[in-house]
Amino acid sequence: MNIGQEVIQQLKEEITESEYNRYIKQLIYDAKKSTSDLAIFYASNALVQNWIQSKYSEKISHLFEINNGSKVSVRITQKNSTERRKTIKKIEKKTSHSLLNPSQIFDNFMVGGSNQFAYSAVKSVSENAGTKYNPLFIYGGVGLGKTHLMQSAGNVFENQGKNVIYTTSEQLLNDFIRHIRNKTMEKFQEKYRKCDVLLIDDIQFLSGKEGIQEEFFHTFEALRGDGKQIIMTADKHPKKIGGLQERLQSRFEWGLVADIQPPELETKIAIIKSKCEINKVKLSSDIINYIATVIDNNVREIEGILSRLQAYSQLMHIDIDLDFTKNALKDQLQEKKKNLSMESITNIVSKDLNIKPSEIRSKGRSKNLVYARRIAIYICRELTQNTMPQLAQYFGMKDHTAISHTIKKINSLIQTDEDFKTKIEELSNKITSS
Ligand code: ADP
Ligand code: MG
Repeated sequence: MNIGQEVIQQLKEEITESEYNRYIKQLIYDAKKSTSDLAIFYASNALVQNWIQSKYSEKISHLFEINNGSKVSVRITQKNSTERRKTIKKIEKKTSHSLLNPSQIFDNFMVGGSNQFAYSAVKSVSENAGTKYNPLFIYGGVGLGKTHLMQSAGNVFENQGKNVIYTTSEQLLNDFIRHIRNKTMEKFQEKYRKCDVLLIDDIQFLSGKEGIQEEFFHTFEALRGDGKQIIMTADKHPKKIGGLQERLQSRFEWGLVADIQPPELETKIAIIKSKCEINKVKLSSDIINYIATVIDNNVREIEGILSRLQAYSQLMHIDIDLDFTKNALKDQLQEKKKNLSMESITNIVSKDLNIKPSEIRSKGRSKNLVYARRIAIYICRELTQNTMPQLAQYFGMKDHTAISHTIKKINSLIQTDEDFKTKIEELSNKITSS
C-alpha cells in the first residue's frame, strides 16, 4: 500500500461510513506526481472535488504529517479535462442536485439556550415540510451552527426521499450567470422550481444583485405557492440585509425568523465533548473547560484545535495534558492576548462581582475584595501578555514576587475550590467573547 492509500484508510477510521462511501472511497492517490510536500488525489467529479478540498484536505494533510513527519499540501483535482467536461455535462443534466454533508445531523448538534430557538424551528420544519413555517429564516454570526442546522434538515428530507437542493447563495448566483450565458434560463427555472425543498445558505450575498433577486423572487413565489419548503440562512435579520428588494425582504419574514446566539459556556463544553467523541480525541474535563474558555464564539475553531492537539500528540508521542494544550494553543491565544487590556478585564470582573474597579486595584483586605482581586489578577496573567512587574504595578502590589505569590495561591485554590474555579472559567469566557 502506498502512503496515499494508507492515509485514505486512516481517514476512514476518523469519519462516518456514509461520508467515506460517498466522498472518500473513490479518491485516487497519484504516487507518481505527488512529491514530499505535495499530495495529489483525483476525485471523480467537481462536486466531490470541492467538497473534499474544503472539508477533508486539512485532515488528510495532518495524516500525512503523522505518517511522514513533514507537512504536505493536499491538492484534490480531476484526472483530465475531458473527463472533467464529461462530469460537468453530467451534473448539468441532472435537474437537481444536493450536496449535503451527511455528518451534519440533528443528533450531533448540541442544543443550549443560545441555539434552542433556531434548533426547535428547524427540527419542527423538518417534521412538517411546507406546512409549518415557510419560509424559515435562520440568522446569526459566523460559525454558530446555521449551516449545520440547515444541513440536518436537508438530510432528514433526503432520507424521506424528497428532492432537496442545498446551495449557497453564491453558488446560486454562479449557476444563474452560467445559465444566462448559455441561454438556458428555462433549465435554471425548471431545476429550482422542481425541487421539494430549497435550502439557501448565506443569502446575504444576494444583496445588491438585482438580476438574481428578480429571478429568485419568482422561484420563491412558485415554490411557496406549491407548498414546497424553503429554508434560508444569513448573518443578519432580513430587515438588516441592505440591498434587498423590499418584496423579498418582507417575504423572508412571512414564515418564521429565528436567531442563533453565541454559545454559552455549557453549550461550548457540550460541543467540544461531542466533537471529541466524533474525532476520537480523549481529553480530560480540565482541558475541555480550558478550550471552552479560550475559543471565541466561533464553534468552527473547535475542530481545528482538536485536530491540532491530536496531530501534535501523535507526532511527539506525548499524552495531551493541560500544559501541553496551553502550549499547543499558544499562537492562537497570542492573537487574542494582543487585544485584551488589564483595564477591560478588571472592568468586566468588577461589573460581574459588583465591586468598583478602583477597589479591586486598591490595597483593601476585605474578603470580597481579595476574592475579586485574585480573579482579576489570574485572568490578566492568563489572557494578557503583561509581565509580573506590570501586573504588580497595575494592582498596586509591592513587586513581582507578591504577584507570583498570589498566582501560586490562586492555582492551589483552583485545585481545591470548585466554585472558585468555575467563576474563573465563567469570567474568562465572558472576557474572551466580549
Ligand atoms: P455557520 O453556518 O453558522 O457559520 P456552521 O454550521 O458551519 O456555522 O458551524 C461551524 C462548525 O461548528 C461546524 O463544524 C458545526 O458542525 C459546528 N457547530 C456549530 N454549532 C454546533 C452545535 N451546537 N453542536 C455541534 N456542532 C456545532
Ligand atoms: Mg454557514
